[in-house]
Amino acid sequence: RFIAFEGGEGVGKSTQAKRLVAALAKRGIEALLTREPGGTAGAEMIRKLLLDPPGTGWLVQAEAMLFAAARSDHVAKAIKPALMAGKWVVCDRFVLSSRAYQGLAGGLGDEEVKTLHRIGSGGLQPCRTFLLEAPGDQVTERLRKRDGDEADAIGGRNAKYHADVARGFAGLAQDDESIIQINASGSEDEVHAAVMHNIEPLLVP
Ligand code: C5P
Repeated sequence: RFIAFEGGEGVGKSTQAKRLVAALAKRGIEALLTREPGGTAGAEMIRKLLLDPPGTGWLVQAEAMLFAAARSDHVAKAIKPALMAGKWVVCDRFVLSSRAYQGLAGGLGDEEVKTLHRIGSGGLQPCRTFLLEAPGDQVTERLRKRDGDEADAIGGRNAKYHADVARGFAGLAQDDESIIQINASGSEDEVHAAVMHNIEPLLVP
């Protein structure tokens, strides 16, 4: 089983991904916890290039290709081998992020991002994606606590960009039954309970 957590910054994706892996372990299910961009040595190097771009930063086209290249390495060397070994994979961000950030908010286009994903990773899709959604001001507050004033790791992106990302995610969720939208403004426990409610049916042999 391949599960992804998606959403904007500061909605609690990493925390919830960790909690899901711990809950699976309690049930005797081994899961690989991983993240994007990253998850392999090569993809972590690309992550550094993305989060700390040289010079004036990347064009959205280059950015999308770097994300796709990182994902290609990650899928081939970490995600697929784990799935083949019968493990679950729980990933903090996957291709839906590329579609919302570069495809929609960045203006590259959804088809272009999907094409890059097909070339890079054979179009692999999670069987469930949890899209964590929280109001913008609540997220800004969480991010300020976590990261100080440097809320956006990729420079030059403003509140409008992040609002576009959130709208992009929500729109993409409308067309895809494998995406479960979860209100992330509740407590950590409430969000975890909502995730587990959707995971339980997958645990039945
Ligand atoms: O999820 P995480 O905080 O690790 O993401 C790192 C950074 O990469 C964030 O600033 C996020 O906005 C950015 N990102 C992006 N496009 C993606 C995925 C992540 O700009 N497709």
